[in-house]
Amino acid sequence: MSQIQTNKIKKISLLGGTGSIGKQTLDLIRKAPNQYKLSAVAFGSNVSEAVQIINEFNPQLVSFKEADSINYAREACIKSIQYVHGESGLCEVAKFAEADTVLVAVVGAVGLEPTLEALKHAKRVVVANKETLVAAGDLIKEYILKYGGSIIPADSEHVALHQCLEAKSSDQVRNLILTASGGPFRNSDLDFSKITPEQALNHPTWSMGAKITIDCATLMNKGLEVIEAERLFGIDYDRIQVLVHPQSLIHGLVEFVDGNILAQLGPNDMRLAIQYGLNYPTRSENLSKKFLNFKEIRKLEFEEPDFVKFPCLRLAYEAGRAGKTYPAVLGAVDEVAVELFLKGEIRFSDIPQIIDLTLQNHHAKHTDSLETIRAADAWARKEALAQLERVKTA
Ligand code: NDP
Ligand code: MG
Repeated sequence: MSQIQTNKIKKISLLGGTGSIGKQTLDLIRKAPNQYKLSAVAFGSNVSEAVQIINEFNPQLVSFKEADSINYAREACIKSIQYVHGESGLCEVAKFAEADTVLVAVVGAVGLEPTLEALKHAKRVVVANKETLVAAGDLIKEYILKYGGSIIPADSEHVALHQCLEAKSSDQVRNLILTASGGPFRNSDLDFSKITPEQALNHPTWSMGAKITIDCATLMNKGLEVIEAERLFGIDYDRIQVLVHPQSLIHGLVEFVDGNILAQLGPNDMRLAIQYGLNYPTRSENLSKKFLNFKEIRKLEFEEPDFVKFPCLRLAYEAGRAGKTYPAVLGAVDEVAVELFLKGEIRFSDIPQIIDLTLQNHHAKHTDSLETIRAADAWARKEALAQLERVKTA
């Protein structure tokens, strides 16, 4: 991964400006206009919030999910902005010539093509969107080698591991350890078939978008992060462990072959992780102004994750180990299952079942092209709906 050391203002293309990560990124840009500028931004469907962001940050290029949103924005915003839309609009923002850094903060597989497009244009790509790394890890590595861009994590556990590893070779690593809060149902004796979306959306330590919050409740988020770690750091699955740590103050640990362990700690505020990703390899003053106060930390607890209670974690390890298009299928079917659960169409306990049944029916292919990954993704979404009928009638 190439490392560009520069003190120039970072010109940022932000994919997903209205989301949890997007808004925290904008907060950093707002706080440090001498360090960051929003050059281009892509939005989904939340046009009213998008208009406020455009008027505050004055980007040169804006993309919306739907073409209709452009007219509304044109009426409400400064006139000199260039507007684009749809998947091609996301890619335009990702490769925008004025920007040097791309922050991928959309949710789900929609991040895949713009991430590849950004790498094709040799950008520094800061990735919060784990689904893209999960689906297309091999292709991303190929693009980095071919076009000279780089990937820097913004997911807090991977930011932790990135700092602890400091580019050490994989043969020096005994274990990567990703911490997990354990989600809202860690100690719960609730019947998982009766858990409501409202209960599952109530995360104990982090405030995030709906999809990742449900993924935290099923532990699929940690499963996706295990695959994300394999993609980013090239460590095999036998050496990637998950450790439940309810306080979420240690974000990741690296155990080296000589028995020494490095851990990264920090307040549970995603702005630290995003700022690290934006600034790497340099560091600048903590813009969130949140710091850990050791006098207030009463305890740091750790426990093993429960693979039986949370089958999604097992399924993610299995899909990661099986490789090929299995991780892409895992990510796509999870997106569908989470959406169905949030709409009240399936039970919480149906989520791992639909994922399992879909993975079992998949005939995997090598992920050597974007088309293969897109085909696996489309197949998984269709198959998930077929399995929905099976689960409902069971
Ligand atoms: P949110 O749901 O809060 O935000 C998602 C963003 O993506 C919104 O801005 C949404 O726009 C936009 N979006 C969705 N679909 C499209 C589309 N087709 N075209 C353009 N924009 C689209 O998600 P989070 O911010 O929570 O998460 C984003 C990513 O970061 C996820 O992959 C997540 O796993 C990862 N992550 C998040 C963390 C967090 O603390 N939130 C922590 C670590 C990783 P709109 O609202 O306008 O429709
Ligand atoms: Mg994380």
